Amino acid sequence: MTSFEVIIIGGLGGPSESSTQCFMVRPFDSNSVKSLCVDGGSGVGHIMDTIAVSNEELNVDDDEVNDDFHNYFKTLDWFRHDENNNYKYASSKRIKLMHNTSKQAQNNNPNIKVGFSNKLIEILNDKPTILQKAYSLYQGIESYYITHPHLDHINGMILNSPLMFERDLPSHKTLYGLEFTTDALQKHVFNDIIWPNLSNQDSSNLHIETLKESQVHKLRAFPNWEIIPFKLCHGTKVIDGSRVFSTVYVLRDKINKNAVIFFGDTDYNQHIDEKDTGYDLLNSFWEYLVNNIPLNEIRGIFIECSSACNYRDEQLYGHLSPQHLIDNLKDLHDKYNKKSKSEFDLNVIITHVKMVPTNTDPRITIIKELRTIAETIPELNGIKFYLALNKHRFIL
Ligand SMILES: [Zn+2]
Ligand SMILES: [Zn+2]
Repeated sequence: MTSFEVIIIGGLGGPSESSTQCFMVRPFDSNSVKSLCVDGGSGVGHIMDTIAVSNEELNVDDDEVNDDFHNYFKTLDWFRHDENNNYKYASSKRIKLMHNTSKQAQNNNPNIKVGFSNKLIEILNDKPTILQKAYSLYQGIESYYITHPHLDHINGMILNSPLMFERDLPSHKTLYGLEFTTDALQKHVFNDIIWPNLSNQDSSNLHIETLKESQVHKLRAFPNWEIIPFKLCHGTKVIDGSRVFSTVYVLRDKINKNAVIFFGDTDYNQHIDEKDTGYDLLNSFWEYLVNNIPLNEIRGIFIECSSACNYRDEQLYGHLSPQHLIDNLKDLHDKYNKKSKSEFDLNVIITHVKMVPTNTDPRITIIKELRTIAETIPELNGIKFYLALNKHRFIL
């Protein structure tokens, strides 16, 4: 039974400023524009791009290629070059190739689609322009659950925030996060220097609320849902080598018990004192899952894998590479297996790839590396790896 619709408003990890991490989540088949976002790296501009490709049948035999197609493939298209290495606009032939790449990355899964659902687009029918439709969807975002305050996870949310006070389409939103996130947003972003302090009064349209680690938080907008934040390690500070933190969120439907898991940036080394001796945060999160959520209730894990295998640990800067992710998934498998022996079927959706200037799209390199390594470990053969490609919709 499906519960969640996750729309990838941004699925990248920089360094390009385009399409950085933001997942819009709605109840599957909902009749409302209401949603929540996990992270806010991208915003209204990317919502517009996603509207533009909605309702499109991406037919590879179609010779007519319109602007929406160009739009859809904008980031895959960064890797275009012809035989003579000339930079040129994507031809329809090239777009077909890129579409095939996208289909390959998603294993032709029918529950992964492009753009918003037809039902949601119909709700927006009374809004004549894409900008108005996007503002209406923005108005429907009730809350943001921020994993950590790095710019690639908040920049769209910040730049869009004045829209909450827009005369014709005002809205109220709450920014949630663990203390290290909400403190930073209040002190260093909404401080009247970097950005206006839009949350300065109780009556304001913007609220910032701190969540407690590993405590259940009930969602006001979606009474059937609850969310639980857990702290993660994410690299070290340049200035003194102390730990930087991030968050993983478990979103759960209380009725049918389905859960979906969203990781913020995740260090390959999760020891809290970063000397391999302290408390391992990811290990304790896996323990929580095994003890509280049966595997068949986990509809999907959105997790970062920022760099390919040819990056050394010291070049990962607090992120995961395919080998580290596989090691963790094997660890998770062993923990579940100890509890009960069942098939380790899991949807793992890769996000936050850093768009480095290699000849091949690093997302394709990383997904291939993950599949290749997982094939060598029989216990992990039930895992399906997908890519959190921009403007794609996951029905989970
Ligand atoms: Zn990031
Ligand atoms: Zn980060």
